[in-house]
Amino acid sequence: MNSIFLCAISNIASGSCNEDCGFCAQSARYQTKIERFRSKPVDRIKNEAIAAAKAGAVGFCLVTAGRSITDETLEYVSRAAKAVKALNLDLKIIACNGTGTKDRFTELKKNGVDLYNHNLETSERFFPNICSTHGWRERYETNEAAASAGLGLVLGGILGMGESDEDRVDLLKTIAAFKPMSSPMNFYIARPELPIKQPVMNADEALKWVRKAREILGPMPRIMLAGGKEQAFGDRLMEAIEAGANAMVVGNYLTTEGMDSSRLKETIEGAGYKVATSAECKAAFAAMGAS
Ligand code: SF4
Repeated sequence: MNSIFLCAISNIASGSCNEDCGFCAQSARYQTKIERFRSKPVDRIKNEAIAAAKAGAVGFCLVTAGRSITDETLEYVSRAAKAVKALNLDLKIIACNGTGTKDRFTELKKNGVDLYNHNLETSERFFPNICSTHGWRERYETNEAAASAGLGLVLGGILGMGESDEDRVDLLKTIAAFKPMSSPMNFYIARPELPIKQPVMNADEALKWVRKAREILGPMPRIMLAGGKEQAFGDRLMEAIEAGANAMVVGNYLTTEGMDSSRLKETIEGAGYKVATSAECKAAFAAMGAS
């Protein structure tokens, strides 16, 4: 029976980012109606980690809004990572805190972070269409820096922002060259306040790109269905597993609600799959050369 890896996200510093990424509800430029806060109390993060482990998550991602890891972010994320690690929940800890240098990533690793997530979002060619305040290259270089500090990479992007098929293939090829542990596939959902106006990708198209992602990324990295999976696949979510995905975000996203975790588990088991255990997660990472 195939296992599906689940990963939970904790939005620990939300909104008010000065950048203008046109897909992001956390940019202060778009007045989206989201909760904005500077830092979530560490006790609350610990409770979320406990709930995530109960829901079957093997990964727990600490996300802060903002372009890059400031001194303050580094201290806060390190403190949160240490506190979650000390709970011994057998969760891989992922940090997602924007651009950074090898020194910052080394510090995160020292404090219990296992993997770093900084998505490329789209191809280098298409990126200026979705963001004007920073370049794609700094996202690319951040992944190089995280890898050089010994962190595993969680590296993906967003489909359906108006990019061409060629852009999608280029994105996937760039991701493949990094040999990430996991690659989140997000499906763009427009909000009225956001400048990118595109319809939600339909299930046939989304399935086609999951197949293509598996073809280009090869058998090893997890392909993780992330933001927009509910809207893009609808009741055909499990067809995405047949198409090559083997991981999913469980619970809510940064600023939107995800499928209820017990319903997700029922959907997985109802289709004849099972939720992967921490032991399976460790074994899978060891097979990819990570501890
Ligand atoms: S840098 Fe990150 S948090 Fe800021 S607008 Fe872009 S995607 Fe959103």
